[in-house]
Amino acid sequence: MNLFSHPEFDNHEQVAFFRDAKTGLKAIVAIHNTHLGPSLGGCRMWPYASDADALTDVLRLSRGMTYKSALAGLPLGGGKCVIIGDPRKDKSAALLQRLGDFIEGLSGAYITAEDSGTSVADMAVIGQRTRFAAGVVEGTEHGGDPSPSTAYTTFVGLKTAVRQRLGRDDLNGLTVALQGVGNVGYYLARHLHQAGAELIVTDIVDANLQRAVDEFGAHVVAPELIFGVDADVFSPCAMGGVINEHTLPQLKCTVIAGAANNQLATPEFGELLMGKEILYTPDYVLNAGGIIDIAYQRSGEGAAALQQHLDSICQRLEQIFERAAAQGLPPHVVADQLAEETFSPAA
Ligand code: NAD
Repeated sequence: MNLFSHPEFDNHEQVAFFRDAKTGLKAIVAIHNTHLGPSLGGCRMWPYASDADALTDVLRLSRGMTYKSALAGLPLGGGKCVIIGDPRKDKSAALLQRLGDFIEGLSGAYITAEDSGTSVADMAVIGQRTRFAAGVVEGTEHGGDPSPSTAYTTFVGLKTAVRQRLGRDDLNGLTVALQGVGNVGYYLARHLHQAGAELIVTDIVDANLQRAVDEFGAHVVAPELIFGVDADVFSPCAMGGVINEHTLPQLKCTVIAGAANNQLATPEFGELLMGKEILYTPDYVLNAGGIIDIAYQRSGEGAAALQQHLDSICQRLEQIFERAAAQGLPPHVVADQLAEETFSPAA
């Protein structure tokens, strides 16, 4: 398994491999860039088919966090942790505590938080052994879960994209196709419903679908049909890679704005979307609400400051859309350029 010549290696500052035979822990922490501050990014627990797959994922995800925090104007760098294992079978308090010991050993260069396969409760256990576990705030409405803030920035960003592409300030009567009504998708559906949008939803968990039907009057379609429905906006809120050679020809929307990370299977799909006159809203700009929330949990600044920061996502998107139009570039390319201008050591 190569590291320095790995296709996803992007001058990461540090990659640490952690093993604890007693608890079965196998984890990798990748710290991509700390020029703006300590690296912060979630801890994903996933039954990777191979160690190589886990390494690929952590290298790619940690790089993405550098870009996300830089564009969100946070004094944070990019890092990520992956635990190789099935969260339903292999997770234990002892394993999480051992990970906490290892993270403490990194002396604050990496701060962890929730991701797929880990929860607020897991962060509390990791936090028994390290000062560098975020996303836990006892006694608050969501207990530190960043999902409501992620849904909020996705919602206001979606509105900004609709204004840009369709020239209207409201969502009344617009149809949004929502893929995934889990943590973020549920809160986003609520915002959209309250704003008067019609919802077409899909999920692979029936209980999540039923909740969207009961509370928001959503129309349900099978997972494979969501791409081709008649909708003004497509909002991917399930998993990555959903804009690909199979789905692109099916799309009828004019705007894509969702919370899922890494929606474009490859960057070329951003250019192909532009060719189809579909406005793609760069995912990591839109879903930055979660990392902003966690940064404010750590800094202890008040709710008003947090709200202002969450709303600033709209100006950032306007800046991206303006530069993209002026330079004839796809928005995801401009987002990357702006992020690199912010976190690069030469900046
Ligand atoms: P989640 O697991 O709670 O929700 C995802 C939903 O998608 C689930 O209901 C799941 O059943 C559904 N799903 C999975 N595969 C599907 C498929 N093939 N078709 C349809 N539905 C499917 O996760 P979440 O926390 O809501 O995160 C959603 C996305 O947003 C993820 O890509 C995540 O990386 C990203 N994100 C989340 C946050 C956050 O604060 N939670 C922050 C930034 C980015």
